[in-house]
Amino acid sequence: MNKKTLRDVDLKGKRVIMRVDFNVPVKEGVIKDDTRIQGALPSIKYVLEQGGKLILMSHMGRPDEKGITPDTSMKIVADYLSKLLGKEIVFVADCAKADAEVAAMKDGDIVMLENTRYHKEEQAKRKQKDGESEADFKAAKAALKDEQKKLAEKLASYGDIYCNDAFGTAHRAHASTAVITKYIPVSVAGFLMEKEIEYLGNAVENPIRPFVAILGGAKVSDKLAVVKNLLNKVDTLIIGGGMAYTFLKAMGHNVGKSLCEDDQLAYAKEMIDQAAAKGVKFLLPVDNMAADKFDPEANTQVVGQDIPEGWMGLDIGPETIQLYSDAIKSAKTVVWNGPMGCFEMEKFNKGTFGVAAAVAEVKANGGISIIGGGDSVAAVNQSGLAPKMSHISTGGGASLEYLEGKELPGVASLSDK
Ligand code: AMP
Repeated sequence: MNKKTLRDVDLKGKRVIMRVDFNVPVKEGVIKDDTRIQGALPSIKYVLEQGGKLILMSHMGRPDEKGITPDTSMKIVADYLSKLLGKEIVFVADCAKADAEVAAMKDGDIVMLENTRYHKEEQAKRKQKDGESEADFKAAKAALKDEQKKLAEKLASYGDIYCNDAFGTAHRAHASTAVITKYIPVSVAGFLMEKEIEYLGNAVENPIRPFVAILGGAKVSDKLAVVKNLLNKVDTLIIGGGMAYTFLKAMGHNVGKSLCEDDQLAYAKEMIDQAAAKGVKFLLPVDNMAADKFDPEANTQVVGQDIPEGWMGLDIGPETIQLYSDAIKSAKTVVWNGPMGCFEMEKFNKGTFGVAAAVAEVKANGGISIIGGGDSVAAVNQSGLAPKMSHISTGGGASLEYLEGKELPGVASLSDK
């Protein structure tokens, strides 16, 4: 990676303001999954071991719409982390009012700031209101951007060094994720960020071949840019999930009541043609698990590439699982984003779990497997195969934008080596 990391700076006695992704699921005062907190521990511990002063900040949920609630306050994470580290954490109830607490810090101390999104200028998102003129909208947006700079400057004033370890928000140019870097001398990547970028970067830019990408999930329109970019990188592109039916229809098949985006048919056809022109294998389902309704108790039948009238494809079929598994197992680099079917329903989870099992063999065969996207990660975790994967990305949206070939503002804004 060409960006500075925590290892490239002297941390002794320095104030390190670190953006982490502590956007953990909280229900009735309980953290339901601490993966993201665990993910940030290596960077946190390193700063403390090196004798730095650590100021942590993150967003959680959408507090700017509802105001701070116990389920969107970082206080719960501060308490949790404090127990995990066996160390006191000073909590500051407004992320922009921490001067006194930061000034009182000694080496090895931790301060945690309240949810950054309590300040709407953190994201500085604003839609045009009904009846608002273009000029008024532009002026309001510019004012919000100015506020964003002020917040970023304030946050920067708490640190000598900025560290971004929040890959999950690296695709956002928010005050705490990117704008802050303009107001602080050095900005470095944390270890989690470094790991994410190295895995994804190597896979996409420098893959060990054969390189197979598997895309699934509901909509083609969400993954248009990913398909287009990956066609220039991969040897094989595997398509499953709801998005497969738009491609099948573009090839002239009947898709019945399956999910299908008719406005993307021309695009789908173009992608199939481009794959052929580039010599990329483009795999679509050869059979499907069809249902008579979208229901866990639906009647089902295995059908070919045509879905009968009144039926819908909710999973890839057994022959397709075999076809996809063979292609995956022969790969040396695999990137997977999106389920192969409605895996939340037992009758339609075989494709996703079958693909997960095949991906799990890649690492054992000396290859690299990278899983991104909430649903594919959930499927891998559910099947107990997580330890068999090379890398499970913590950022669905960020990893998808990376696969689209986009620059991530949270990474681009860090100091060069
Ligand atoms: P995404 O958020 O785009 O990754 O989509 C994930 C969702 O797509 C999951 O909730 C799946 O149940 C759903 N999905 C996968 N395959 C299908 C399908 N064939 N028809 C309808 N929904 C699907």
